[in-house]
Amino acid sequence: MSYLVIAETREGMLRQVSLESVQAATLIAGSSESISICAAVIGSDIQAAAQELSAFVTGSVYAIEQEELEAYNAEAYAHALQGLIAEIQPEFIVLGHTAIGRDLAPLLAASLDAGQLSDVISIQRQDDEVLFTRPLYAGKAFEQKRFVGSGPHVVTIRPNNIAAASEADVSGSVIAYNPPAAQLRTIVQEVVRKASGKVDLAEAKVVVSGGRGVKSAEGFKPLEELAEVLSGAVGASRGACDAGYCDYALQIGQTGKVVTPELYIACGISGAIQHLAGMSQSRIIIAINKDPEAPIFKVADYGIVGDLFEVVPLLTQELKAA
Ligand code: FAD
Repeated sequence: MSYLVIAETREGMLRQVSLESVQAATLIAGSSESISICAAVIGSDIQAAAQELSAFVTGSVYAIEQEELEAYNAEAYAHALQGLIAEIQPEFIVLGHTAIGRDLAPLLAASLDAGQLSDVISIQRQDDEVLFTRPLYAGKAFEQKRFVGSGPHVVTIRPNNIAAASEADVSGSVIAYNPPAAQLRTIVQEVVRKASGKVDLAEAKVVVSGGRGVKSAEGFKPLEELAEVLSGAVGASRGACDAGYCDYALQIGQTGKVVTPELYIACGISGAIQHLAGMSQSRIIIAINKDPEAPIFKVADYGIVGDLFEVVPLLTQELKAA
């Protein structure tokens, strides 16, 4: 029996969520030695990523390399994977709950007439049952679900929640898989990327986030410096995005990105429920706000009541000196 992880790459590099997906598949498999964890890497310029991934899986890594797969296109990716899935008949298909995973997983599940569980944050085994935990109502409640009947089952996992896999004892091999030519109804003509920070916000271990309290685009500079010292990424509230201080690509919350870093530093953010939806699952939350009554302090592990323009540079200075 096999499980299939659909890996993601970024500029030829394996994304962290791919190794977390391998770990998720390993947790689902439990101690069963008859299950091989396979993976598919799709795109162009993917050989290095496929090779790297092969050290973490027990089965094969299928490298699906075609020019028309260079940019993500749901129709093309689903077509490329359908033949492979028919061939290896995986019991579970695991993807990251990323922009790609959120789009591709339901398409695959529908085409396979499979059940799907999305945005899974932890996996537990109870006797022979595998239970999947996922947040509800913007993180205010959690539900545990399990699949009934036989697979294939499709699972997407939230980045930064399940530890990345460690290298397998016996690593897999890379196999080139060439899907049949597709009659696509849509093709990606061009992808224009917005300039983004060095660290991917969704996968960052540290996020320094600014709100309306930052007051201007210039006001984000001290936050960028702090993020750099901590090798983290900069995020923002919708208040800051709406005010034009930063790009909407940085927005965290119900209508923005969901992040779960080890450390989230909220600067000048009041803590509206819609913002909490995107960050309340962070491991440690530090809030810096000059209003001691700000709701963000209710979810914060550490609170600093003060002016962010004094506190943030001080923190950066101390961390640089440490
Ligand atoms: P404010 O609420 O104005 O808070 C600014 C804070 O900065 C205040 O607490 C103030 O005390 C503090 N401050 C000011 N100056 C300083 C200083 N010098 N030093 C320290 N602290 C200072 N919001 C999101 O963030 N993400 C979403 O995805 C999102 N989705 C939404 C979806 C819907 C349908 C709706 C209705 C709203 C959504 N919102 C979202 C908006 C949300 O309700 C809030 O309006 C928004 O989060 C407020 O942003 P803020 O905390 O930056 O601003």
